[in-house]
Amino acid sequence: MTMNVSATSYRTKVVILGAGASGVAAASTLHKNGQDDFIIVEGQSFVGGRVQHATLGRSSVELGANWIYGKGTNPIYKLATQHGLKTAPNDKRDVAFFDDQGPLRQRLGLPVYDAFDELMEKTVMYAEERIAHNQVDLSSRAALRMLGWEPDTPLKAAVEYFAIEWELAEPAEVSSLEYATGTSDMTEGTFPFGNEFVVDHRGFNYILQEEANRFLKPNDSRLLLDTMVTRVRYDGPHGVVVHTANGDRIFADYAICTFSLGVLQSNSVEWIPAFPDWKREALLSFHMTTYTKIFLRFDHKFWDDWQFALYAGNDTREYTVWQNLNAPGYLPHQNQDDDNILMVTATYKASERLERLPDAQVADEIMQVLQRMFPHTTLPRPTGIVVPRWHTNPLFRGSYSNWPIGMLVEHHENMRAPLPIDDNDDASTSPRLWFAGEAMSPEYYGYLHGAWIEGQNIAGKILECLNKTCPPYRFHKRVRACNPTPRFRLQQ
Ligand SMILES: Cc1cc2nc3c(=O)[nH]c(=O)nc-3n(C[C@H](O)[C@H](O)[C@H](O)COP(=O)(O)OP(=O)(O)OC[C@H]3O[C@@H](n4cnc5c(N)ncnc54)[C@H](O)[C@@H]3O)c2cc1C
Repeated sequence: MTMNVSATSYRTKVVILGAGASGVAAASTLHKNGQDDFIIVEGQSFVGGRVQHATLGRSSVELGANWIYGKGTNPIYKLATQHGLKTAPNDKRDVAFFDDQGPLRQRLGLPVYDAFDELMEKTVMYAEERIAHNQVDLSSRAALRMLGWEPDTPLKAAVEYFAIEWELAEPAEVSSLEYATGTSDMTEGTFPFGNEFVVDHRGFNYILQEEANRFLKPNDSRLLLDTMVTRVRYDGPHGVVVHTANGDRIFADYAICTFSLGVLQSNSVEWIPAFPDWKREALLSFHMTTYTKIFLRFDHKFWDDWQFALYAGNDTREYTVWQNLNAPGYLPHQNQDDDNILMVTATYKASERLERLPDAQVADEIMQVLQRMFPHTTLPRPTGIVVPRWHTNPLFRGSYSNWPIGMLVEHHENMRAPLPIDDNDDASTSPRLWFAGEAMSPEYYGYLHGAWIEGQNIAGKILECLNKTCPPYRFHKRVRACNPTPRFRLQQ
């Protein structure tokens, strides 16, 4: 056995696991309330988590979060405004349609698009009606069929994909009606006044880094970057002990875990004691999806000025949604002359499949689709390609969470519930390990603002714990069936 002689022990009041949006929001909240005794541990070499970018040509492209969903009181919109982040309005109605014979006339595409828009409004009303009658959740596919929709042509399938799978990263078959597609967020947006697409050469995570700079000094020893957490013991009488891959140990009164749902579902961190079954059941029931934004750079632009294009292929549902990063107002201060960039999205199982392919093979597949969309054009080979691999990345294991059919509110409360919990008396215990991060937000799971708000919420609870006693929380030792006397066989 080798011993790491340079291993360090740290002692702090609060250890924050992860320096994504939720971790930064948690630390910022502690700081604003006069609590600066915290340490943030992060496996990557930078602050931002799933908000990160890469360079393609001379442009910066967002690999993860890219859209600010609504303005008004959206905290991410407020940060973007404060830090002067460059954004462009996102208009999903600025869309061109293609099939295997090339461009489709707008008068063929738009009526189908509008019909699905109307159907989504009806889906929300249908979900609200079912909730009002306390009816069980349905899959979004069943609900769409109940309302008369069948995606029985490539165009209808592409239009549905754009509205549902391109947003949730999972198909209607597995997405909940009541908590996913049937929420008013899907039609009206989470916050009002429309969505913005970030096109800032400093990257979207500039706003998170600037927020972190408000409470961190240069080279602040309270931020441990490139540091992998391998084990967390949370049942000690005085707090938690966090072990890192380089042998360091961090002793803290409380921990806030902001690791993604994908990380919590995997075995990459050893939790001592192992999570109780009620928590495992909840974590394993929620879905970590994969959303892959593939960027291709060309030496000239052979497409029009649309923001979006939908490809309605006969024999594939992959590579359906395209985005033009050279649309008017996009890629500002960048080099439009040499950076002609298309972004195409893959989701769900298609993402997992292509993550196993080398980039060159992904490029070949995409070029075949593009050739069908532009049959009369001699297409240039891409001069660059970026293929993020979120599903296989051990720091994320997916892109964001989605509410699946079968998941109950009680499950979600169990996902969020801190540990350890005294089974006999949940109110009087002082749990040490608290959970924040995007997936734990009941209202805004999946979104960057959900991660931010949840980080603030949980830090607020930790402040209460530090001041006096921890606030109450909800958990359910057994999540029970809706039917109090379930029968699985019809009685004779
Ligand atoms: C492709 C994609 C597109 C998206 N698009 C949008 C969008 O347009 N708009 C929007 O609002 N949201 C979007 N999201 C979601 C948004 O990015 C997330 O909700 C948000 O960034 C999550 O923040 P977080 O702090 O909860 O988690 P994270 O950002 O995942 O932060 C957790 C941190 O923990 C670290 N970590 C994990 N395991 C360990 C370990 N063992 N040791 C040490 N550190 C560890 C990770 O490196 C990470 O930095 C998108 C996400 C992806 C991936």
